[in-house]
Amino acid sequence: MKVSVIGASGRVGRAAAFSMAEEDLVNNLVLISRERSLSQIEGEALDMSDALAAKDIRVSIISSCNWEETKDSDIVVISAGIPRKADMDRVDLAIPNARIIANYSKMIAKSAPESIILVITNPVDIMTYVAYKASGFPRNRVVGLGNHLDSLRLKNFVAEHFDVHVREVHTRIIGEHGNHMVPLLSSSSIGGILMKYYDEYETFDLERATGKVKGAGTYVIGKKGATEYGPAFAISNIIKTILRDEKKIPTLTTYLDGEIGGIEDVCLGVPVKLGRNGVEQIISLKMSNEETRGFLEAAKIVKKATDEVMASLKEFE
Ligand code: NAP
Repeated sequence: MKVSVIGASGRVGRAAAFSMAEEDLVNNLVLISRERSLSQIEGEALDMSDALAAKDIRVSIISSCNWEETKDSDIVVISAGIPRKADMDRVDLAIPNARIIANYSKMIAKSAPESIILVITNPVDIMTYVAYKASGFPRNRVVGLGNHLDSLRLKNFVAEHFDVHVREVHTRIIGEHGNHMVPLLSSSSIGGILMKYYDEYETFDLERATGKVKGAGTYVIGKKGATEYGPAFAISNIIKTILRDEKKIPTLTTYLDGEIGGIEDVCLGVPVKLGRNGVEQIISLKMSNEETRGFLEAAKIVKKATDEVMASLKEFE
């Protein structure tokens, strides 16, 4: 099992690499950076190896600026990009990051043509579309992480309100990893029972919880400069599901071709069956009227922004 991380000198990249190594998910880990960060990722690799020895885990870790090292990767994670500051919206990063993602996706298509690309860079829904188009990969092999992390955040708030173990909560957020995210409360359950059947449901303030999920990234960035552990563990969840062919149903950004609400030619967060082939099925949804409205709105907003970014990439070429 081989995973390469592009942007491994960054806070999300290095934390994700360490998390997947520490969970013993991979045999070969490749940390890729630009030349200016090579020394740093060499240090990261040795530091990680020392930690792994303490846990009796053996992983080969290579640090390099040479893309040839990504050859035969099962998964390539891209977290390279200009980071978001607390006063920036994720969409502010779209055009500069799209150039980076388009360039890197083309390089992955050459060096690791059979891999699955997992996009982390924000705004992730647009960047997933850019990676899909630039790599030329089939759509099942290009996914983005965004709503999976949002869903984990919502799960925490639900567990707290209903005073239950977080493992009992099945809830999700779909749509945009951003202001137009849509919590799917109508199909959320606790202990296998729909949430609406619980007495505590009456006092669950969905608007407040969604507001907190929307603001979670900005809050953490404002306090400590970046989000690390949340995205890192969410990434290793996804890596594990793919490499172990678990066929779990996380919410990932994927290219839609009319499967949900007739939405097409845009990448959005939806429930997917995930396994060794990447996205093996897009799960169709029964939503409330309000959820459907929110999802269609998210699709409209993300599609418009994606079209603008793709037009700017053409001008740049
Ligand atoms: P970071 O610490 O600044 O690291 C980003 C890395 O990107 C840098 O170490 C650098 O790597 C590379 N980079 C920076 N500018 C570049 C450029 N102009 N060209 C090529 N590479 C460049 O940022 P981070 O906190 O790890 O966040 C990385 C990305 O993930 C951001 O876009 C962030 O918004 C996103 N994010 C997404 C989620 C999600 O759920 N989808 C969650 C958290 C963060 P090298 O020097 O090694 O090349």
